[in-house]
Amino acid sequence: MSSIIVFSDYDGTIAENGSVQPKAKEALQLLRKCGIPLIIASSKTFDELTEIYRELHLHGPIIFENGSGVAVPTTTGYDVYQLGVSIDEIQKLIPLVETVVGKIQTILDMEVDRLCEYSGLTRKQAIAAKNRKFSLPFIVKGGIITRKQNEKISAILARHKFTLRWGGKFYHLVPTQGGKGNGIRWVMNFFRLQKDALLRSAAIGNSENDFDMLDAVDYPFFIKNKRLHANSPTATYTVTREFDVEGFYEAVEKIIMCV
Ligand SMILES: [Mg+2]
Repeated sequence: MSSIIVFSDYDGTIAENGSVQPKAKEALQLLRKCGIPLIIASSKTFDELTEIYRELHLHGPIIFENGSGVAVPTTTGYDVYQLGVSIDEIQKLIPLVETVVGKIQTILDMEVDRLCEYSGLTRKQAIAAKNRKFSLPFIVKGGIITRKQNEKISAILARHKFTLRWGGKFYHLVPTQGGKGNGIRWVMNFFRLQKDALLRSAAIGNSENDFDMLDAVDYPFFIKNKRLHANSPTATYTVTREFDVEGFYEAVEKIIMCV
């Protein structure tokens, strides 16, 4: 087993507008040559990510719905663990957010066609995206929550031990103690207990939804993102020179040099 595991976000890192980029496939090939496993941590659902794992020939655990769930492969399928809260709990917070930004539309409210148009997903992918267990991405009228609104919402959510995150296409309500970082710590504990107590970790992300994932690993890489204005990453992350998938490739090259 490799002495390092790489965790990565999916949208804007490995894929752009829903499709895996050739440069990302090259990077995955580099990791495979070095025997370094890649685990995707995404806001996507289990159904979406199993399909992506098939396409990319990945075989390890899956961190889905922003770390609210982890799936570990077994000889017959996957064991699924709930780390976050149920979708019903999140649904209760929606009216509270609406007091600040007006009517919002969750991914479950969106017709499949509308979701395809908004996110660039195929119909099959959109149906898989709507099959959620522990999270509820949403959009607001006008597309953007202003800084002032964000402050108000954050104050309300803090009382319920939740935070608001922007994931690149949707906003997410994430438990304060949850997020992708929580999923990564769970997976690292699992591997350290089973295989190697000294196993190290790296992570690659491109949005504020990835910060807690980057905080959870030994080698955090932040891919430059043109859309990220607020809450820019801290100096503790290595920020790539390149944007998007080129940045992903650059991060992978640097991780390989760390090993
Ligand atoms: Mg992303």
